Amino acid sequence: MKEKQKKTEQILQIPPVIQQHCGFIDAEALAVTAAEGVCVIHKGELTALDLVRVIAALSELASDMTVQLAGTCGLCNNCGDEKPKADAECGYDNSPAKWVADCSLCRDLLDESQDIHIPDYLLEEAGIPQGARLEAYADDDSGEITVAEANVQQDINDVPPEILSVLAQSGVCLAALDELIMREEIVYGK
Ligand SMILES: [Zn+2]
Ligand SMILES: [Zn+2]
Repeated sequence: MKEKQKKTEQILQIPPVIQQHCGFIDAEALAVTAAEGVCVIHKGELTALDLVRVIAALSELASDMTVQLAGTCGLCNNCGDEKPKADAECGYDNSPAKWVADCSLCRDLLDESQDIHIPDYLLEEAGIPQGARLEAYADDDSGEITVAEANVQQDINDVPPEILSVLAQSGVCLAALDELIMREEIVYGK
């Protein structure tokens, strides 16, 4: 734990050889774009060609990472249920986008009407913050449904729609992605 703290507290230093490679040595200024978990440093002033190079490098990285994520999730085979690809041979549209669309488990994850909605006043009474992820349990003996704040507050709903759509169109299993996000597993760089 101590070592980890040290690592994040240290001031980042870019080795001169990398600065040389990036053309930072003779740059007037550098610009930083920071988002959660990522920091991109580039020259403060870019020519059109510089800009193209930045775009190319970022696109390549993004595409590598997408491939890695997709590979970790795997393609959806109807989430283990029998049936879908059997239709394949007889001219049935078997595009990857259909794998996800035809899988009820994955499809429900994309369907906001499947989310649990509780009025704000009830949440407040229960001491649950607005916007918190909820989970529900049904008791078929009593016919009651219990709704509680979910133990895990991150899931596939945290994935921006444009990324989700790319993955779904490629046939990537969304249920597997949801599971990976909830389990907070390391899927890259290890
Ligand atoms: Zn699946
Ligand atoms: Zn599925």
